[in-house]
Parts: sequence; structure tokens; C-alpha cells
Amino acid sequence: MIRENLTHTRQNMEDACRRAGRDAGDVTLIAVSKTKPLPMLQEAYEAGVRDFGENRVQELVEKYEALPGDIRWHMIGHLQRNKVKYLVGKVFLIHSVDSLRLAQEIQREAEKKQTEVNILVEVNVAGEESKFGSRREETLQLVKEIALLPLVHIQGLMTVAPYVENPEENRGIFANLQQLAVDIGRENIDNVNMNVLSMGMTGDYPVAVEEGATCVRVGTGIFGNRSYDCN
Ligand SMILES: *Cc1c(COP(=O)(O)O)cnc(C)c1O
Repeated sequence: MIRENLTHTRQNMEDACRRAGRDAGDVTLIAVSKTKPLPMLQEAYEAGVRDFGENRVQELVEKYEALPGDIRWHMIGHLQRNKVKYLVGKVFLIHSVDSLRLAQEIQREAEKKQTEVNILVEVNVAGEESKFGSRREETLQLVKEIALLPLVHIQGLMTVAPYVENPEENRGIFANLQQLAVDIGRENIDNVNMNVLSMGMTGDYPVAVEEGATCVRVGTGIFGNRSYDCN
């Protein structure tokens, strides 16, 4: 089932790239494996997946330790400062940085471990009360502040769009995040890249790809429904 779901998902991504005149190689599929047991991740790994997304630190670390070393682990969930120490050195990209204090903690931990950390700044484009993320109008300022941390490297932006029945309803949100990345990129801030746009989930990733996503985060569409949701 996982192998077929992956084939189907990759095909949808390719089709969306073709519609948008994009190169399929420019979009990474992140398999969101939160709550799923190791054998399911192994199956995805054997079907070629090397990018896995998790939203809880402890779960990410346990899976990191149990699975092959060539996997790129993506932290996509809200991150508390006191958990940063467990992630640094293991995670490939932290998608969910939305405050200077969190970035400062990542910097401190990177210093301790003498390493560097790639991050995305999470933006609450829709301004939903319930969501984490920097407010759109505050994002440039936040990026400028984080940019001063020498071991923390901003690679782009991430958003979690609202849950909608019709994915077209999120097109404007994706386009909005893409435009924000272009605007911030034009500022030519030292230590800041705007190459990565992490947006799109099972319900709306083809639309996100059409609007410029370079990473899509697909869970249910690969692994099936989650028995409990810990968003
Ligand atoms: C769970 C989760 C996803 C995947 O959601 P699906 O709808 O199962 O594809 C993507 N991004 C984030 C931040 C998540 O927490």
C-alpha cells in the first residue's frame, strides 16, 4: 500500500510540475511519518524515501536512532526551546522556527556541538489564531534578527495552510508565501536564503507545487489515516 501511495503521490507532483512548467526534480517529497511505526517507515525507505517529517522531538530522535543514517529528518512541528538540545546534530532541517528566542536557543546548542543548523521560518499566512508561526507582516523583521545568528541558516519559509475541503481555497495562501519569499530574497540579507518553500499537505500539495513549493509534507496520502492526531 505504501509503495503504491508513493507512486501515486510522486505522479501527482510530476503532473503539477508539468502544469506549472517546473522541473520535477525541484520539489522534494517529505513523508510525514508522525505516529506511524518503524516498519511503515522502513517500507517507505525501501521505496526510495529519504526525507521524513516528524512533529515531536522524542519520536523523531527514536526513529533517527533506529533507521539508516542517510535519512534526512525534518522537524515540522512546534518546537519548545527545552527540546532543541535533542534535535541539533540529528535534524536536517527545522521547518518550524517562529521566534527569535527559539532561534537563539538553536544557536546556543549549535555552538555547544560545534555544528550549524538549517531552518525555515514558519509563517502564519492566514493569520489563524490557533496556529503557530510568525505573522506575515512581522516575518521580514524576524528574518533579519535570526540572520545575525552565525550558526543558524535560514533556507526559506514554511506554512501550514488551513484545513479546507477544496484545495483551491489555499492557492492564495501558497501564492502569498511564495511572494513573501521573493520579497525577502530581494533584500539580500547576509546568511539568508529563500530557496526553500515548504508548503502543501495531503489535501492540497498539487496546488502548492503549482504555486512554487519546493518541499511538500505528505502524511495521510502515503501512510494512511492516523489513529490519533497530535498536531
Ligand atoms: C501532520 C502534518 C503534515 C501532514 O499532514 P497530512 O494531511 O497527513 O498530509 C504536514 N505538515 C505538518 C506541519 C503536519 O503536522
